[in-house]
Amino acid sequence: MSVAPASPVVLGDRFARELPEMAVPWRAEEAPDPRLVALDEDLAADLGLDPGWLRSPDGVRLLTGTAVPAGATPVAQAYAGHQFGGFSPRLGDGRALLLGELTDRGGRLRDLHLKGSGRTPFARGGDGLAALGPMLREHLVSSAVHALGIPTARSLAVVATGRTVRREEPLPGAVLARVASSHLRVGSFQYARATGDLDLLRRLAEHATSRHHPEAASAENPHLALLQAVARAQARLVARWMLVGFVHGVMNTDNTTISGETIDYGPCAFLDAYDPATVYSSIDHGGRYAYGNQPAVAQWNLARLAEALLPLLHEDEEQAVALAQDALGDFRHEYQAAWTAGAAAKLGLPGTPGEVVRPLAEELLTLLQADRVDLTSSFRALAAAARGDAGPLHRHFLDAAALDDWLGRWRALGPDADAMDRVNPVYVPRNHLVEEALAAATDGDLAPFEQLLDVVRAPFVERPGLERYAAPAPPDFGAYRTFCGT
Ligand code: AMP
Ligand code: MG
Repeated sequence: MSVAPASPVVLGDRFARELPEMAVPWRAEEAPDPRLVALDEDLAADLGLDPGWLRSPDGVRLLTGTAVPAGATPVAQAYAGHQFGGFSPRLGDGRALLLGELTDRGGRLRDLHLKGSGRTPFARGGDGLAALGPMLREHLVSSAVHALGIPTARSLAVVATGRTVRREEPLPGAVLARVASSHLRVGSFQYARATGDLDLLRRLAEHATSRHHPEAASAENPHLALLQAVARAQARLVARWMLVGFVHGVMNTDNTTISGETIDYGPCAFLDAYDPATVYSSIDHGGRYAYGNQPAVAQWNLARLAEALLPLLHEDEEQAVALAQDALGDFRHEYQAAWTAGAAAKLGLPGTPGEVVRPLAEELLTLLQADRVDLTSSFRALAAAARGDAGPLHRHFLDAAALDDWLGRWRALGPDADAMDRVNPVYVPRNHLVEEALAAATDGDLAPFEQLLDVVRAPFVERPGLERYAAPAPPDFGAYRTFCGT
C-alpha cells in the first residue's frame, strides 16, 4: 500500500496582495460527505499535482477548500457587472473562492478557484451553493471546449458535497474546482472604476497587463495597449465560438475575461441546427445572448471595459474617448480576420484569399439555415464531399440543387479534406446527450457522463461504435432550454 504524500500544493496570493481592496479573505463551508466524482488527471499533471493525492481525503479537502495549504489566502473576489444590460456595482464571488495561484509545468501562473463553496459577503440572496448537474455540465462542456482548441477556464474536479441544495426541487450539492489563467473580468475593471480610486484602477490594469498581455507594458500608452490586447483576445475567442457553434448563454460583463478565455459556463450549449437566432438560456427572454448576437455583445462588453479605463487612457476625456473608440474598431477588424481564417480552415481552403472564402462560407451558412441543417454534422460531412462522396452531406439538405451549385464552386478551389478533418469536430457535447448524462448523474449513475466526457475529449478522430454521439438530435428533442447553474 502506498502512502499519500503530504500536501504537495503551494498556492500563491498575488491577487490578494496586489489588490486587497478587491479581495475579501474567506473560507469554504464544510462539506458533510465529500465524494470526488470527476477529476481531470491530465490537467492535474499540467499543474504538477499528483492525481493520486488529489483523490485522497486530504486532496478532496483541498478541492472543496476545507483545508488549504499553509500560507494560502483564499479570497472572494469583488467585481461589478452589466447583467443583461443593467449595471450592478457590486456582484463579486457570491458562491466562489479564489484559493490562490499555482505555477504550472510551463511556468505559467494559474488561478485555482472554487464554485459552490458556500456563502460569502457577496452572496446577496443566494445560498452560496451549486448543484451537481450544473457543475458536471461545466466540467463536461469546458473539457470539450478545451479539446476543440478554444481558450477556456478548465475544470480540475467536481466533488459532491453530500449536502442537499434546494432549487425547484432538492438536488445533490457539489463544488467545482477550476483553473484559469486568471479570473479578472471586464466587471473587475468596472468595480475598480466605480470605487473612484484611480490608484486601484491603475494597479488592477498593471496586474492584468503583467499576467495576460505583458507586451502592452512597453507600449507608448500601456493602458491603451491593454485595452487593444483584450479586444483582440476577445475577438479571437468569440470567432472560435461562432465557428464551432458554441452559445455561451450569459455574456454579462462579469463573465467576460481579460485573458480572452471562456469562463462561467452556465446555460451554455452547442448549436444543433444552424440558426443565428438560437437562444438556449431559459432566462434570456429577449434573446440578447442569442448565438448570432455574440460578436456584437462582446464588442458592447469591451465598450464597458473602455469606459472603465478612460481615465487611464488620456488625461483629456475627449482624447481618451477617441482612443477608446479606435481600440473598439480593432475588435471588428480582428473578429473578421479570425472568423474568415477559421472559415477557410473549415472549408479546407487555408491559403485562399478572404474575399473568396467569406462569401462562400456565408452562402453555405444560408443554405444550412434555410434547411435547418445540423452545423457539426454537415461540416464534418463536407470532407467526404471533398473526397468525392457528397451522399452523407446531401442527406441533411432539402434543396439538393442549391447545395450542388455551391459544392461545384467550392470543389473547384481544391479543398483539402484531411485538413478539414483536423478542424471540423465529429463529436461535440450534443444537448440531448448532455441532458441524458446529467440526469443520470443526478440520479447516481455516472456512466453516461463518463462516456460522453471521454468522447468529447477527442473530438476530431472518428471512432467506431460512437455513431450515436456523432448523430444530430432526434427530431422529437424539440426546443432545448438550459438553466443558469444557480
Ligand atoms: P453567474 O450567473 O454565475 O455569473 O453569477 C452572477 C452573480 O451571482 C455572481 O456574483 C455570483 O457569485 C452570484 N451567484 C450566483 N449563484 C449564486 C448562489 N447560489 N449564491 C450566491 N451567489 C450566487
Ligand atoms: Mg459569473
